[in-house]
Amino acid sequence: MTVTEARGLLLLLRAKPTLLPPAPLGLDPRAMDRRAYDEVHPCLGCGSLAHLAYVADCQLYGFRWLDLCYDCAASVREANN
Ligand SMILES: [Zn+2]
Repeated sequence: MTVTEARGLLLLLRAKPTLLPPAPLGLDPRAMDRRAYDEVHPCLGCGSLAHLAYVADCQLYGFRWLDLCYDCAASVREANN
């Protein structure tokens, strides 16, 4: 995923946060590690195996999981700068 694509993904997620799976309230770091390392989720950016799990605060829609592979996570970080 390129930085431009990552920007588009972030805009889409702001418009449609319901595309992301809900994350539990009171999330602890162990839950993020479990999701990233013990569970299988597709990367939101490219569909390959996700290796990182983030939690996005989608305000009215609550907290949502954001599963990404390393490459897409780097693109998203760069798009946010
Ligand atoms: Zn990816």
